[in-house]
Amino acid sequence: MTARIVLATHNTKKVGELRAILAAAGLVLPDGGLVTSGEVGAPEPVEDGVTFAENALIKARAVCAATGLPAVADDSGLAVDVLGGAPGIFSARWAGKHGDDLANLELLLGQLGDVRPEHRQAGFVCAAALVTPDGREEVRTGEMRGVLETAPRGTNGFGYDPILAPDEAAPGAGGRLRTAAELDPEEKNAISHRGKAFRALAPVILEVLRG
Ligand code: IMP
Repeated sequence: MTARIVLATHNTKKVGELRAILAAAGLVLPDGGLVTSGEVGAPEPVEDGVTFAENALIKARAVCAATGLPAVADDSGLAVDVLGGAPGIFSARWAGKHGDDLANLELLLGQLGDVRPEHRQAGFVCAAALVTPDGREEVRTGEMRGVLETAPRGTNGFGYDPILAPDEAAPGAGGRLRTAAELDPEEKNAISHRGKAFRALAPVILEVLRG
């Protein structure tokens, strides 16, 4: 069995999440069995795809080519219905500067200022890709639908979490909707776009690693 798989990310939280999902699917990886692209010195490609799936594949292909190991990558973002799916692949840099979560969130709230509650549906979307050295390419997607609040709530998570109240999250005290930033990480993983995409890809990863 191939002992190693590379996750094309610098985010060690994602490694923990994928490791737990694979373990739940029956594959307990040894120490060092799942590593980040940073740990193996793989390059970061230009993400110039125009869909989540293309960008996930671009990252997984680059890491697989650089390491000779099966590689997994994900790409995700927020798709707002009334904006025709935007910010979408531009989620991380919606306000101009890559990764400025607060500016992105505030710009989006401003843009939706006049939009009534019944038109505030949106979803986090994730594409997870697996690329193997023998050229196999697989992509699975996951979505977490919800409603956009008018002001941020909660301190967990990142990005747009404080303004999206997921449909699948149990309500809080008094029946009030909870945002993704008010969920603990396990609760969010169980319903999240990334959790769903990784869980859908897990059987394929198992198949590849078991040969
Ligand atoms: P990445 O694919 O993990 O780099 O995420 C791209 C961008 O999408 C992030 O910078 C966030 O703005 C947004 N995003 C993706 N997933 C989430 C999430 O789970 N919560 C909040 N924002 C997210």
